Formats: sequence, structure tokens, C-alpha cells
Amino acid sequence: MDFAFSALVLDRAGEARQDATWIEGRFEERDARVLVLSSEGRILLAQPGRLLLDLPLALLRERFHLTQFSFLGRERGAALFALTLDAAALGDFNREFNAEDVDLRVAAAELPAQQAGVAAFARSLAHWQSRTRYCGSCGAATILCSGGHRALCSNAACAIEHFPRTDAAMIALVHDGNRCLLGRQASWPERRFSTLAGFLEPGETLEDCVRREVFEEVGVRIGACDYIGSQPWPFPASLMLGFMARAESFDIALGAEICEARWFTPEQLVEQWRSQQIKLSPRLSISRHLIERWYLQMTGTALA
Ligand SMILES: [Zn+2]
Repeated sequence: MDFAFSALVLDRAGEARQDATWIEGRFEERDARVLVLSSEGRILLAQPGRLLLDLPLALLRERFHLTQFSFLGRERGAALFALTLDAAALGDFNREFNAEDVDLRVAAAELPAQQAGVAAFARSLAHWQSRTRYCGSCGAATILCSGGHRALCSNAACAIEHFPRTDAAMIALVHDGNRCLLGRQASWPERRFSTLAGFLEPGETLEDCVRREVFEEVGVRIGACDYIGSQPWPFPASLMLGFMARAESFDIALGAEICEARWFTPEQLVEQWRSQQIKLSPRLSISRHLIERWYLQMTGTALA
């Protein structure tokens, strides 16, 4: 599918990376490479060209310790690591390597799909590491292992292993067979309309999450939900699960999150979008993909 962060081809070597000796071997590989991000989760791009800064690991081996790198996997056979720089080191590093730190939301629109995917992975992993320095059970410091994919509590009496978390969120294109329902939040750019979204709660199925969130946000009851696809969303660590959701009631009653919601026929949607009365979610978002998918199904032509 053609949305950002969903086209990553990487051998994560999940079994092998549990072996510290194996990780050391990858660290010493001649063709090992490293991508770099800031502690705020910004991605370093090489100038000029604005592609991911992708350095031979050999350039950094003397300066940083192995434990400061995370092993991401093998990309086209070569070991790929990620390094997070603190704010104090960032400026000098950018100057030395002619790089620039960029918000990944911005970079994702420009980067090749593979690079956007690998940057999203690195960003989410680094965010989890930064929030898992202490054990959530006993409060002792944790020790990263398995190439940065596991945090072990240093208190021998506790010894809990912590693993990266992903927050599941649903995103749904609500339709009634003829029209689709789009809403906007007050904080969004003016006239931007989008699909509805919300986080999964404990003990909830995704389908029930779609029904609950849609009802909370616009007061519409949902029947059948069809799963379409998913998009990693590393801001900081979500997975968006996309649905087409069939409405069973049609009156809109706005909840607290949405300031405006409307039903659109395909004709109204394309006409108001072309004349810029409304704006849609950016290309590369799963929201835009769901809207375009619905429009294509309804009209047999692409939204353009
Ligand atoms: Zn502990």
C-alpha cells in the first residue's frame, strides 16, 4: 500500500540479536552502517540530497560504545544500526557530516519508502528506550540488551524484562453506502477534514474500538467493519489500523474532540476538494488512502 512507513524490507534477525556475541560480530562487520537521530526523535538527513544520513559504522566505532547503538537488522545483507545523539553533541555532528536534523513527519514526504520505514522503526525504538530507563515494577535502573530491543531490570530480585510497546489505534472511513463521513478537529489546519481515529482501550477488540470512538466523536452507530491495512505511526509509537466502517445511524452529534463533521457524496467530496473548500489528509497517510479507496470504489475513478 502506498502510505508512509509501511514499506520496510528488513531482516530484523529477531532470534539472533538475543545473543550479545552475535551483536558484537555485526558491530565489527566491515560494511555495517548506522543511521542517526536526535534525542528529540529528529532524523539526520545528509546534505545535499536530503536522504537519510547513512554512515559506515567504522567512522563512529572509536567514538561511541557498542551499547549506545541499537541493532535494527540486516538491510540488503549489511548490518544496520541506529545511534541517538543528545542535544549537546548534535550541532557538531551535523557540521562534521554535513547533515541536518529534520522532523520525520516532514522527512517522510520526501524520503524513499524504505528509508522512511527504517527511520520510523529507529524513532519508535529510541523513544521506548528513553522511557524505559527504570523498571516500572521496582524502580531500579534497567540495562538494554538484545541490540536495544529488551530492557532488563538490574535488581536481581525483580529481573523483569521490558519489551518495546506499540499503541494500537484505529482509523476508520465511515460510510453509509452512498456518502462518507469526515470530521475535523479544532487544532487542525483550517478546512482540513479527515477520517475518525482513536486509541484502543484494554480488553477491547478493534471493531469495538471503531464503534465506540465513532459514537463518541460523532454520535453515529457502526455495524460492519472491514479491516483494510495498517500503518506504523512513530509519533511516538502507534500502529494505525485502517477500517471501512458501515454506518447504521446517520444523525451527527458532536463529541468533545471533533468541532465539525459532515457527510459527503463522492460528487460533493471531489468538488469541494478541487475548489479548496475542504482539504484532505496529506498523501502518504492511511487516512488519505482510505478516502481515496472509498472514492475509487464509488466512482470507478481515482480522486484527482
Ligand atoms: Zn524491577
